[in-house]
Amino acid sequence: MFLCLSRLSLRLGRVSRCHGDRRLIATVVSGTKTARDVKQRLVLQVEQMQTHFSGFRPGLVVLQVGDRDDSNLYISSKLKAAAEIGINAKHIRLPSTTCQDEVLRNILALNEDPEVHGLIVQLPLDSDKPMDQDLITNAVSPLKDVDGLSCVNAGRLSRGELRDCFLPCTPQGCMELIRQTGVSVAGKQAVVIGRSKIVGAPMHDLLLWNHATVTVCHSRTKDLPDQVSRAHILVVGMGRAELIQGDWIKEGAVVIDCGINYVTDESRPSGRKVVGDVHYASANQRAGFLTPVPGGVGPMTVAMLMQNTVISAQRFLQNQTRT
Ligand code: NDP
Repeated sequence: MFLCLSRLSLRLGRVSRCHGDRRLIATVVSGTKTARDVKQRLVLQVEQMQTHFSGFRPGLVVLQVGDRDDSNLYISSKLKAAAEIGINAKHIRLPSTTCQDEVLRNILALNEDPEVHGLIVQLPLDSDKPMDQDLITNAVSPLKDVDGLSCVNAGRLSRGELRDCFLPCTPQGCMELIRQTGVSVAGKQAVVIGRSKIVGAPMHDLLLWNHATVTVCHSRTKDLPDQVSRAHILVVGMGRAELIQGDWIKEGAVVIDCGINYVTDESRPSGRKVVGDVHYASANQRAGFLTPVPGGVGPMTVAMLMQNTVISAQRFLQNQTRT
């Protein structure tokens, strides 16, 4: 029903623009709602595991170094989601004085712990000591790397071995939101803005292996508006408040905004508000589908982390029953 209505609204928008009397208003793609549906499905899966495997629960550990406010906020939303689903989540916070070897020792011990099925290191590391972030990310066992950030998982994704790896949570959440629109990715021109290991690069891989033709833009890209105007599917993750303007966007495009930027807003008690990388009001007049910020990609990232943890626990149980 949703898909039919969505397609219909896209079609109506195009027709009305031909007559030049009405502006297209994008269909909002709600991450809050989609994430709620994903989490409800996961609750059932965890209940089944508990029933069939004598109270078994998936285990997730979030390892933090230091005490950054933004990290604390993200961690609390992960722990809350885990508790709602029935995942046994644990938060280990190491002081910022911890040395790299000590962090690695913790990771290696958690890799061996059979009650831990998902292990994530909260980034960025907030440490007084020198830390090799890549070394630490890669110390997490690929079998428990539910953030999908290790070289093993990233390599599998880049080769299109999608079933054998853990997909990074934010791009996976974006794909899920694109699916919600009912717009097929195959054969479409997709443009990704940003090439980070967490968002842009894996987003490129996912779109590519779902058969889009993909262009990746970054800070040295010339004529960003021209690149954006070619996209049937546009995924933006650059951390530049409202930089993407509506009149750059192809009419009817699917626009997924990963950006989380805090800007001044004197009308609020906090004195600030969160906005995306896309200028929402103008994009709303051009896109066919648009994710809001907040309430778009953010909740999906957490939901996909929970999904990966449940998948990891399922794989663990399959291996146990085989041996
Ligand atoms: P990074 O800073 O690691 O990467 C930003 C990317 O954007 C880089 O590739 C950079 O290019 C590119 N970029 C920066 N400025 C421009 C520009 N003017 N034109 C074109 N490209 C540009 O950020 P992340 O990927 O970690 O995060 C991106 C955004 O997504 C942030 O707002 C972040 O908060 C948000 N985010 C949201 C998540 C969620 O759950 N919703 C999860 C993770 C991130 P170059 O490589 O050349 O420097």
